[in-house]
Amino acid sequence: MYSVEKIRNDFPILSRTVNGNKLVYLDNAASAQKPLCVIEAVRHCYSHEYANVHRGLHHLSNLATDNYERVRGKIRDFINAGSEDEIIYTTGTTEGINLVAYAWAMNRLEAGDEIVLTSMEHHANIVPWHFLRERMGIKLKWVDPEGDGDLDPDRIITAIGPKTRLIAVTHMSNVLGTLVDVKAIAQEAAQRGVPVLVDGSQSSVHTRIDVQELGIDFFALTGHKLYGPSASGALYVKRERLTEMRPFKGGGDMIRDVSKEVVSYAGGTQGFEAGTPAIVQMIGLGAALDYLSNIGMDNIARHEVDLRNYADQKLRDRNWLNIQGNAPNKGAIFSFTLDGPAHPHDLSTVLDGKGIAVRAGHHCAQPLMKFLGVTATCRASFGLYNTRKEVDALVEGLELCRDLFS
Ligand code: PMP
Repeated sequence: MYSVEKIRNDFPILSRTVNGNKLVYLDNAASAQKPLCVIEAVRHCYSHEYANVHRGLHHLSNLATDNYERVRGKIRDFINAGSEDEIIYTTGTTEGINLVAYAWAMNRLEAGDEIVLTSMEHHANIVPWHFLRERMGIKLKWVDPEGDGDLDPDRIITAIGPKTRLIAVTHMSNVLGTLVDVKAIAQEAAQRGVPVLVDGSQSSVHTRIDVQELGIDFFALTGHKLYGPSASGALYVKRERLTEMRPFKGGGDMIRDVSKEVVSYAGGTQGFEAGTPAIVQMIGLGAALDYLSNIGMDNIARHEVDLRNYADQKLRDRNWLNIQGNAPNKGAIFSFTLDGPAHPHDLSTVLDGKGIAVRAGHHCAQPLMKFLGVTATCRASFGLYNTRKEVDALVEGLELCRDLFS
């Protein structure tokens, strides 16, 4: 039985006040709060089990290495990868996608080759491809969503041409909440021999992920949105793609041998994890994944669908709110603007006065803002600890905004 009240007790920050009001935290799409088990895992590691990993032969180094490496199996289970050898540790989705750009795409693509992407992408899934456009003459082929923010997989599939070498697509828009049918895209792409990279930064928080069932080649996720520490994350790379990648970050821990003349690299994922990693953060992510799997991703998804439906009905009842995106399959993320002179930043400031944390701005999705014909929106994004009461608080706060700015 899903008890949101019990879950809330696991998150100490949720009982604090902001500007004299009980905190209503609705900025989960930017970063989520941390449960006690994650905070405790980090504290315990620094207090009792900390040393550098993969290097020492002493007790603490072995202990830290075991704890750190154990998380690879947890990530494997969380996304149902075929093997731990397909999981590269990263500091988040941004690093994961950059890794694909530098280690895979730069090694495989040449001038005139195309990457298909959508206008709904976060800048993390745009700018690395612009680098390739600027530096290698790669062409970017853009696919727009429908007016309601839905993305018909056929739009992507028909954009595939003889020069298409990669499809880079979000699984869930961080602005509209649209869930994209990446399985349908991957099925058709595989028949045409085109790999698919999925930005799972938002989707992995809200739905159960099975990368094998999705049939995709790369999947990037972010630990800090999964209730884990910042600077934790992972990139799933299908085994056959791993052999097509060349290391791009050189340094300690990723070599087989180094001499003055030549260098050879460690095999597998190790070749992509140079330098001292985010040891404690990854251990904290392991605790977060345990926490999520104890609750059950399907239960979390059900709770969030309930919140989405409730918020959808409440917000759409207010005809002075312009809600962006109404895809049939969407998660609990709502972007909106207010009729009249109020800028989204104004809404956010007024709501903050009531202790309600939302995000306002372009959400690192400027091409989408252009498509929607706005410069910014206000965004409320829900997580596993949010309640219907908090939706009500948001609506009340927005009514105050309407009164102030009309
Ligand atoms: N993609 C999407 C869809 C996101 O929402 C975000 C974070 N807002 C990112 C990528 C980047 O994630 P990070 O900054 O954690 O690497």
